[in-house]
Amino acid sequence: MNAQPNSPDTFDVERVRADFPVLTRTVHGKPLVYFDNANTSQKPASVIDAVDDYYRRHNANVSRSVHQLGDEATAAYEGARDALARFIHAPSRDEVVLTTGTTQSSNLVAYSFLLPRLKPGDSVLTTQMEHHANIVPWQLVAQRSGATVKAAPINERGELIVEKYIELLTPEVKLACLGHVSNVLGTVNPVREIARECRKRGIPLFVDGSQSAPHRPIDVQALGCDFYAVTGHKMLAPTGTGLLWAKKQYLEEMPPFFGGGDMIREVRFSGTTFADVPHKFEAGTPNIAGFAGVAAAVDYYDQLGWDAIRAHEQALLEHATALLREVPGLRIFGEAAEKEPVISFLIDGAQATDLATLLDLEGVAVRSGHHCAHPLMHFFGVPATLRASLAFYNTHAEVEAFVAALCKVRKLLR
Ligand code: PMP
Repeated sequence: MNAQPNSPDTFDVERVRADFPVLTRTVHGKPLVYFDNANTSQKPASVIDAVDDYYRRHNANVSRSVHQLGDEATAAYEGARDALARFIHAPSRDEVVLTTGTTQSSNLVAYSFLLPRLKPGDSVLTTQMEHHANIVPWQLVAQRSGATVKAAPINERGELIVEKYIELLTPEVKLACLGHVSNVLGTVNPVREIARECRKRGIPLFVDGSQSAPHRPIDVQALGCDFYAVTGHKMLAPTGTGLLWAKKQYLEEMPPFFGGGDMIREVRFSGTTFADVPHKFEAGTPNIAGFAGVAAAVDYYDQLGWDAIRAHEQALLEHATALLREVPGLRIFGEAAEKEPVISFLIDGAQATDLATLLDLEGVAVRSGHHCAHPLMHFFGVPATLRASLAFYNTHAEVEAFVAALCKVRKLLR
């Protein structure tokens, strides 16, 4: 890769693809077209090498040993915290809690931040388009406290009805929640505007950044939210890595959620005191090798450059949307004015799973199902959709191959 970020003019997708070993393979004898990036991204060689190098040369446990390898393991792990703090423009590395991913991050907020604040009659506000990781944790703690979870509505284009969300920000709301980008529709939500309204009312805002971090630069300070969750495996990094960013004031007030090694200052049967933030939330041995990979993933984005990534991805989205619109009987779910490269759709008379299975035989990997978004499926009145989700290493030729394969397999289902 270049040391300098690419510009949209110098972006060379073939060169980028050469960094991703899996993209050269075939599936059922056909070249792989990997359009399941919203599920998990593929990994560049630099990330794979960072994990490999960690185990070959440095492996030890973190924050415990005074020997050289222990120091190196700690440096790899803490280096990922620095990289992620930069990646999301956190004001301080101490505000970045390393987690296993967004699911752990939202549960940490639910049990450590929200539960102690909820009383009967309180509520949590989320939206109709959220992933279950931004619904179910709130329900679990609401049930324990006699609180409720309410959902702001969306329109037929798959856009949040912002005025309704704001109307629902009433005094009994103890936490407002919002996905930055929908994993099903690709819709980009107006986080800044919502954050401004939340601040006016003194309501903290949790943002699920799982689907935004792979596609756009994140600046938590500019967004103005209070909590931000990111998952590593969707942004080139290994599975089982992620972060929760929260304002320090909140992290200091929040009690630990997981107890065990590494999160304590002193343990006595008469009472235990805890490590400073963020370590008091990081009990036990973390995914150190995975976080070595996270640092390499952040470097990869830095070197590629967001302008180039965004220009290429938006061109792919436009191309794929235009071709899909020409397929007879095809309905696209999610036509928001601002979208990331995620397209959900159905074809009249064909089951989503049948289409996905037949597409696999053509080498095309897409996801079919409810995408962990039951309330959104209910809104559209469908049990499932097919979802093609693209990344910067995909090509226009792949978009064409995908739509050609789709047209071929739909004929088999008639
Ligand atoms: N939120 C959204 C919007 C997602 O797309 C996903 C992953 N499908 C999650 C949360 C859950 O993230 P994780 O895989 O880290 O549990």
